[in-house]
This record gives sequence, C-alpha cells and structure tokens, in this order.
Amino acid sequence: MGQDSSTIEVAIIGAGPIGVELGVAFERLGVACVVFDGGQLGETIRRWPPNTHFFSSPERIAVAGIPIPNLDQTKISGEAYLAYLRSVVEQFDLNLRLYEKVERIDRRDEMFELETNALAGRKSYRCRHVVLATGGMAAPRFLGVPGENLPHVRHIAPDPHTYFRTRLLIVGGRNSAVEAALRCWRVGAKVTVCYRRPEFDREIVKPHLFAEVGMLIRQGQIGFLPERTPVEITPRDVVLAPTSNGEPIDRPLLREPADFVLVCSGFVADMSLFEMAGVELRGQRRIPAWNPETMETNVPGLYVAGTAAGGTQQRFEFFIETCHVHVDKIVAAITGRTAGPTGLGDSRRYTIPRENAES
Ligand SMILES: Cc1cc2nc3c(=O)[nH]c(=O)nc-3n(C[C@H](O)[C@H](O)[C@H](O)COP(=O)(O)OP(=O)(O)OC[C@H]3O[C@@H](n4cnc5c(N)ncnc54)[C@H](O)[C@@H]3O)c2cc1C
Repeated sequence: MGQDSSTIEVAIIGAGPIGVELGVAFERLGVACVVFDGGQLGETIRRWPPNTHFFSSPERIAVAGIPIPNLDQTKISGEAYLAYLRSVVEQFDLNLRLYEKVERIDRRDEMFELETNALAGRKSYRCRHVVLATGGMAAPRFLGVPGENLPHVRHIAPDPHTYFRTRLLIVGGRNSAVEAALRCWRVGAKVTVCYRRPEFDREIVKPHLFAEVGMLIRQGQIGFLPERTPVEITPRDVVLAPTSNGEPIDRPLLREPADFVLVCSGFVADMSLFEMAGVELRGQRRIPAWNPETMETNVPGLYVAGTAAGGTQQRFEFFIETCHVHVDKIVAAITGRTAGPTGLGDSRRYTIPRENAES
C-alpha cells in the first residue's frame, strides 16, 4: 500500500460544493489541505438527471464568494454548476484527489489515519484534522419490493427522451417525481404517477411544479393513482396496494400496466465513515452528533460539513445555502482565524465607483 509520509493538516472527504468551499477557505489562509472524492468533482450533482436545473438561485449556491456567471439570470443546470465548480478549483489550484474513496478512518495518538482506494491502488495518509463533507445522497432509497432490480426499473431519471411513446409509471410524490412526470410527459411519454398519499404536499413540492402537474392531472394528460404503493414490479405491470396515511392496507390490489418504472423515493446517506470513526449517530436518520458552534463531532478533531450534517434527510433542512456557515465555523475552530468569503459573501455588495456615483 502506498504511504504518504507527510502529515496532512486538514483532510476534507467529499468534493461537493461544501467540500470545495472549505478547501478554498483553507487555501486562502495557507493551511495545507487535501480534498478527497470517491468519484469526480461534484459527484452527487453529476448523477442528477441530465439538464436538471437547481431550485436555488445562483447567488445562493455560489461558493467562496465567487459569482456564478450565467447569461440569462435564471436558475442554472447541474452541468453548468459542475463547470463553475471546476473553475473554482482551478482558480485556487486545490489539492484534489479524485476517484480516491476513503474506505477506512482510524484515530491514533490524536491523529487520523485514512486508507483510500485510488485508481492507482490503495494508499494511506496521516492527518491532524478530518472533515467529513460526504453529502446525504449516497444511494437511492429502495422500496424493497420484488422486481425492483428489473432492467426497466430506474431510481434516477435518465434523459426524458428515453420514455418517448412508452407507458411510464412514476412512483413518488415529491419534487423529483413531479419534475420527472412533467419532463417525461413533455417528450411524449404516457405518464402515470402513483403516490402513497392522497395528494402532493404543497409544503414540499415547489409551487410552479405543483400548479402545473395539478392542471395536467385535472385535464387527464398525466395519470394519477393516489393512495397506492407498489408491492411488486413485473416486466409488464406494477402491482399496487391501497394505502391509508401512506401505509399499505388490506384491500384488493390493482395492476397498472407499465413499460418502464421510475422510482423517485429519495436518497439515503452513507454514514459508514462516521460510524467507523466513533461518531454518535442518532435516530433512524442517523444524524451525527456535532457541536453547533464548531461543527466538531463527538470525536475530537473530526468535523462534519454540508448536507452530511443531517444524515438521511426527510425534509431538507441542509442544502447548499444553509451549509455555507459550516465553512466559517470549521475554519474558525481549526485555525482560530476568519474564513474568507463564503456563499456569495461580500462580493455581492458591490459599490458604485466614486466618479460614477458623483455624476
Ligand atoms: C434533482 C436534484 C435537485 C437538487 N436541487 C438542489 C438545489 O436547488 N439546491 C440545493 O442546495 N441542493 C439541491 N439538491 C441537493 C444537492 O445535490 C446537495 O444540496 C449538494 O450536493 C450538497 O452538497 P455537499 O457538498 O454537502 O455534498 P455532496 O454534493 O453530496 O458531496 C459529497 C461528496 O462526497 C463524496 N464522498 C462520499 N463518501 C466518500 C468517501 N468515502 N470517500 C471519498 N469521497 C466521498 C461523494 O462522491 C460526493 O462527491 C438537489 C438534488 C437533486 C437530486
């Protein structure tokens, strides 16, 4: 196994928006840090359905005070954001180790030992501080019903054209399900949505999606099967059980024919590194224990940043714009200094040059 002999001051695990923002903050202060990712830069966003646009406005998802250039002042796509993240990394020449998954973490003599699985083989590192910025969307949440692994069933929406002139059953009732229903219907799929609740939740589904899907359902353009949940998927149809309060009840089953099935039932976080390091994980959502002033976990020297702080989230409390503050706290806790701009920081408050202001 390759051993990196030098000690890393700060190892950040996860090169998503918040891991990158933290890397820039340390870089600006001259603190040696390495950012690891098991996939590419922004791996979570890479897995989004193609051409998905952020719900958040660009200024809220900008990192390290660097504005996101976009030509039409609208919400940007995941692809545009990946290009932006790359430009941030290049600008600060961050020390990234991509396609290098951290598989083991041990705390010894007040230091951490990391073992990674890189393209070139296994490696180990010694680090003084570790930040877990591993995100909260490691894998789709499976329904756990027979047939869910059949080839015509997906858990992340592909390019909507995949479903042109086919019967598509979408399972779910949150933003991803509703957005997929609208996009697939627009490219000529015959879409039916099955949801375990009687109606979509206005508090969760974005207003513009809610209004549009409601109208198309009322017009009969998109099918809607409320209070139903799949209990089996076959190559020809999906067996649906009636539900009450979201839970299956003992009533006759329904068979809904479908050529393809798209299960949009959310994602789960991978908290295995937290567990391995001895971080206390609370409840079903496996929320790590952390100090709200510093983001340090119950393991001294081990911090959490970004959406990982919420474990597996049900209602999104942690997303990019609510996590910039983690960067400030961690930098202050480790260095005793103030991080440079985070989010869009001060760069948003531009001043009119004096000569223009006076004229
Ligand atoms: C369709 C869709 C739309 C969304 N829209 C928005 C939106 O509008 N606004 C918003 O704020 N959020 C949105 N989100 C959620 C968004 O993806 C997250 O908020 C964001 O990615 C979180 O950033 P993060 O840095 O905390 O973690 P992530 O971006 O999840 O980054 C974590 C990184 O850690 C890496 N990693 C994990 N484990 C290891 C390991 N053991 N070793 C090495 N690397 C590891 C992963 O590969 C990943 O790159 C959306 C999500 C989806 C699916």
